[in-house]
Amino acid sequence: MTLSLFIEPDLDFVAQINSDAGLNLKKCYQCATCSVVCSISHDNKPFPRKEMLYASWGLKDRLIANPDIWLCYNCGDCSTLCPRDARPGDVLNTLRKMSIQEYSKPAAMHRLLNDPWKLPWLFIIPALIIFTMGLITGLMNLSPGGDRIVFAHFFPVPLIEMIFIPLSLGVTLVFFLGIRRFLMKMRNSYTGLGKAAPAPFDLKLFLITLITQLPPIIKHERFSECSENKGRKILHMMVAFSFTSLAFVAGAFVFALYVLNSHGPYDQINPVKILGNVSGIALIAGSLLLIRERRANARQTNGYFDWYLLGLALFLGITGMLTQMLRLADIAWAAYPMYFIHLLFAFNLVAFLPYTKLAHLVYRTVAIAYYHYAKEEK
Ligand code: SF4
Ligand code: SF4
Repeated sequence: MTLSLFIEPDLDFVAQINSDAGLNLKKCYQCATCSVVCSISHDNKPFPRKEMLYASWGLKDRLIANPDIWLCYNCGDCSTLCPRDARPGDVLNTLRKMSIQEYSKPAAMHRLLNDPWKLPWLFIIPALIIFTMGLITGLMNLSPGGDRIVFAHFFPVPLIEMIFIPLSLGVTLVFFLGIRRFLMKMRNSYTGLGKAAPAPFDLKLFLITLITQLPPIIKHERFSECSENKGRKILHMMVAFSFTSLAFVAGAFVFALYVLNSHGPYDQINPVKILGNVSGIALIAGSLLLIRERRANARQTNGYFDWYLLGLALFLGITGMLTQMLRLADIAWAAYPMYFIHLLFAFNLVAFLPYTKLAHLVYRTVAIAYYHYAKEEK
């Protein structure tokens, strides 16, 4: 029996990978050193050698629907030992970026987010939206006055809700549709060549797998498996946990406002306030240390996509802390504008979440859950 295999290479896809961070897929001569050193590679799955081959063949569909690329934490072990400097770790990083671009629609948002020349628009657009909303509703008060600085007098909570609640719902919808596309693609292609068609998707089993996979993901267990970049685990955890606890702090203040009818500003010794301050400092320190670590790591290439998220995290933390310090120092002329700038960074973070590197938190979690779900299913 003759088995015919037709391959439709996507040459644009190959060119896109090669243009990202100066990669060159032709360098790979399939020696498999990367698969030998990679801690997540299995005997029957030569990872990431297989992915390097698929990438050089331009098999886009096979790669962006492949949950395996999300198991890699870009430790850099394979790139360090690759005899041809083909940088498989960076290729996988690029593939993950391209997956996010494939699933989070519309594509125009990625063009906006991935072009450094368009960076000013990422702040001009939110500024126009926030100002317009403030002026249309008449809620924004450009000269709040008063004996002490109260940000709610300048930018009341209902105005924040009017902007951020629809924004959050829109982002949730983009993620929902993106995850649906991602799951369907994985479902259709992950079975691989010559394998049977998948059984109907078992949502209950998938959700159970997702929940059981959360603890190791939160604990960053896979980071510990790599030897090259072990120090990155602590820094990554610092940034990830700061984001999470800052989101918790924001939620706690909303709860205090609506359920307990308690208005800020709160004492510095308030436990939630302390958590907010510690998280803010951890966010700044974690971002700075990650930037330093990435700059020092010659075996890991970072593109604008990587730097953008780190810059955003850093300035979100800095503007948040400065806002508070200026309020405590009672410098109203600087505190209110700084608060507005902080709001722009917060808007930026939420609105562009599905299109920035932060989206990998969602897609990676889904991919890992699907990887284990597929094993359970078999
Ligand atoms: S990426 Fe490097 S280590 Fe991996 S198969 Fe290709 S040449 Fe060998
Ligand atoms: S970067 Fe690390 S985890 Fe990723 S493929 Fe290379 S060795 Fe494996």
